[in-house]
Amino acid sequence: MQSKYLSITVLRCPDCGNDLDGLSTDIIFFCTECGRCLMSGDKLAPVEIEFTRHDDSGIVLLPFWKVDATIDILSRITRGESRTSPITGSREFHGGSLDLVESYSASRRDLIIFPAFSTSLVLSTGVKLNEEEFSQEPLQNGKYPPMIGGSVGLENVSKLASGVAVGIEVSKSDYLAFIDLDIEVHSAKVLAIGCTPSESAFRINGTSICIPFSAVKDADDILKRSGYSS
Ligand SMILES: [Zn+2]
Repeated sequence: MQSKYLSITVLRCPDCGNDLDGLSTDIIFFCTECGRCLMSGDKLAPVEIEFTRHDDSGIVLLPFWKVDATIDILSRITRGESRTSPITGSREFHGGSLDLVESYSASRRDLIIFPAFSTSLVLSTGVKLNEEEFSQEPLQNGKYPPMIGGSVGLENVSKLASGVAVGIEVSKSDYLAFIDLDIEVHSAKVLAIGCTPSESAFRINGTSICIPFSAVKDADDILKRSGYSS
C-alpha cells in the first residue's frame, strides 16, 4: 500500500542534525559538522567523499567526481604525421593514402576526475585533472570548511566520464582521426579538492590548473558561502 503522506526532504544531516548549506540547484551536500557527504534524491543518501589539496589556509573546497571506470577502446584511428597539408580538398583519399592506422580492443582501468559543479569547462578541466595525482588527505576531524555548488548528479556521471575519456584520447600526441569507446563505471565518489581563489579564478592547490570564475555558473555564491565576500 502506498503511503498517503508526502515525503518532505529536510536538508538536515541525518547523522548529527546539522543544517546542510547549499545552493538551490545543489544535489550534493556536505555536513561541515560531521564531514559526511549526502546526495538528494527520493531522500538524502550518503555518498563516499575523499579530500585532497587542502593544505593552504584560506581554501575553497570544490566538489568533483572521481570515477573508477574501465574504458574499452573499440576503435581508434590515427593518421600519419606528414599529411598535414590543407591542399587536399579536391583529391580523393582513401585510408591508405592518408596513412590511417586503426587499432582495436585496447582496454584500461582508469580514474577519471571532473567537476561536480556547473561549469562550461567540464571536459577540458577533466582532461587536465587526469594528469594530476590526487592522493587522499583526510581532513582534521571537527573542522570542515563548506563545500558548495555540487549540482552534477550520479545519473550524468557515466556520460561525462565518457566525454573526458574521449578528451584524453584526443589530447594524446598522435594524430587522432576517429575514436569509439565504451565506458563501464565501477564506482563514483565525491572528491573535495582544495582550491585557492585568485582575482579571477579558482586555482587547484598544488597544480597550475585554474578554473575561471566566468566559467563557473555559481562562482559568486560559492565564494560567498565559503567565506569570501565578492
Ligand atoms: Zn552531520
